[in-house]
Amino acid sequence: MKVLVVGSGGRDHAIAWKFVQSGRVTKVYAAHGNAGISQVAECVDARTPEAMADFAEKEKIDLTFVGPEKPLSAGIVDLFESRGLPIIGPTQRASRLESSKCDTKILLRELGIPVPEFAVFSDPDKAREYVRSVGYPVVVKADGLAAGKGSLVCDGVEDAEEAVQAIMEDRIFGESGNRVDIEKRLYGRELSFFCFTDGYTVLPMVAAQDYKRARDNDEGKNTGGMGSYSPHPWLDEDLVATIMNRVALPLIHGIRDRCDILYRGILYLGLMLVEEPRGVMPYVLEINIRLGDPEAQVILPRLRTDLVDVSEAILTGRLKDLDLEWDPRYRLCLVAVSGRSRGKKGWYKGYPDRYKIGVPVQGLEAVDPSCVVFHSGTGWGENGELITTGGRVLGIVSTGETLQEARDVAYREMKKVSFEGMYYRSDIGAA
Ligand code: ATP
Repeated sequence: MKVLVVGSGGRDHAIAWKFVQSGRVTKVYAAHGNAGISQVAECVDARTPEAMADFAEKEKIDLTFVGPEKPLSAGIVDLFESRGLPIIGPTQRASRLESSKCDTKILLRELGIPVPEFAVFSDPDKAREYVRSVGYPVVVKADGLAAGKGSLVCDGVEDAEEAVQAIMEDRIFGESGNRVDIEKRLYGRELSFFCFTDGYTVLPMVAAQDYKRARDNDEGKNTGGMGSYSPHPWLDEDLVATIMNRVALPLIHGIRDRCDILYRGILYLGLMLVEEPRGVMPYVLEINIRLGDPEAQVILPRLRTDLVDVSEAILTGRLKDLDLEWDPRYRLCLVAVSGRSRGKKGWYKGYPDRYKIGVPVQGLEAVDPSCVVFHSGTGWGENGELITTGGRVLGIVSTGETLQEARDVAYREMKKVSFEGMYYRSDIGAA
């Protein structure tokens, strides 16, 4: 069987790597991949959904699996399906769960799924009036996609008014700021929850703890993610049941029955768990339509079930017959990023601010084979050397019977890798 993986980040490397493990797969392609992905798959320079569909048709690809949200929101699944090409991922309509925060919150409320109190505005004056009137701290969210940066968490009214101005008038996220979703700020524990679904059955995956901030102790700016580990420290069976019954199942069944949307693929719930007198309540902060990065890098290596079997069950609506099997051992992903370094125009602060690229990466061949290195931003230089091409460069994924063991291995192995300006947090998986 031939598989095409769409994407070029660390998550997409993990997906391609997982397909390579399958005894049923003869060849994995990636569009358009990166240097690390090119070591496990053949990278194809197809950059648009049309070019990818042309390739899939020409090469008679049996299964396409989409990693990132952008091609999904652009309708890659609808395009492939219209040409009879098997593909895993939600359709463009289903993708609005991620690409419109406003419409999603309205839908969730209609379906009786717990969401923070909120209101939607397309007029900045009305939005400002609202934040002055509510009397509690809010989060102001741009409606559309903003690369994970579109939600501004505010401390007071002044802050919130500035957020409205920045999103709706200064247009810091462009068209994505045509509307805003203004939510009550909740306080609790955050959890990312992932499921496979065929539109009827919803199977929860094991959970992962991720680290969004750039610096130790969760200081510094928000990033795409600086590390992760799995199993999660406090997600137990009861909590899984609560999330399934209060959120995942009503959502998947609700959009199918009310909106005629058969949601197939991966569902990613961004939740805030709030302690309430009647128990823990999982409030939905956001919905994503794909795997998280770097959560996939620790979840997929724990999946013992063949990803081809999971994909086929999703496509044929037979997920109910599948039992997912998981490796109980810990996985930890430590991400190395392009940090502070001297560029052509002076000092660059480093990811998530400005950083230098094109820097040679050394030492990967010395990393212990018990670890997997997933590449995020790497490419090949003019002389065939491995170079950096992005802010997040690579992640080392280690295995351990305990979290401490996995952490020790990842930190020990990362010391063997080097590139100019390399930076990683020192507290991933620390107690
Ligand atoms: P990302 O893709 O990085 O998760 P996003 O821009 O899609 O971000 P959200 O997930 O909605 O947006 O929000 C980003 C972060 O803001 C959340 O992880 C959470 O820390 C905080 N946040 C969002 N909504 C709320 C809320 N109602 N109360 C408290 N914190 C919130």
